Amino acid sequence: MELDITSIIKNIGASIGFEMTERLEDLDSIGTVTFTSPVTVKGKATSFNAMIEVEGEAQIDFKTVCDRCGETIERHITVPIRENIVESGEERQDAGTDEEDRFTYSGHVIILDRMVADAILLSLPMQQLCSEDCKGLCPSCGKKLTGLPCDCGGDQAIDPRLESLKGFFNQ
Ligand SMILES: [Zn+2]
Ligand SMILES: [Zn+2]
Repeated sequence: MELDITSIIKNIGASIGFEMTERLEDLDSIGTVTFTSPVTVKGKATSFNAMIEVEGEAQIDFKTVCDRCGETIERHITVPIRENIVESGEERQDAGTDEEDRFTYSGHVIILDRMVADAILLSLPMQQLCSEDCKGLCPSCGKKLTGLPCDCGGDQAIDPRLESLKGFFNQ
């Protein structure tokens, strides 16, 4: 995912808008999350002295499973992007280079891949739920619980397999 900044690079304060859609190698799958669409990035790049500010958003679809009930979930996320990208070679001259300055460019092209992939991966929720109040599955029959006692009645009783384990650990 390359952004050509030829038109603004020599022109401090100038900016260009951009929009691109591409499938990124880094956005394939991670844990239970599988990305199901290419990523679309749109925004604006503004030229500063040996630094380009990129501002915009990235969007992608992914598929995963609910942590509680195992149901497949499909989601679309939009992630804000804002990074200052410094010309490589310049960064060491800056006193107090902070984390904002970890992306660099050289020549007339900014490679956005890592910046976009990082922003998306960091914004994935820690817990995947089909709905906030998902009750998970009945431990007895495996059916999805609704908050009411399960039809099978099994979620009320103690699982006999657990009972025998209890005895086992007490010995
Ligand atoms: Zn669920
Ligand atoms: Zn049940």
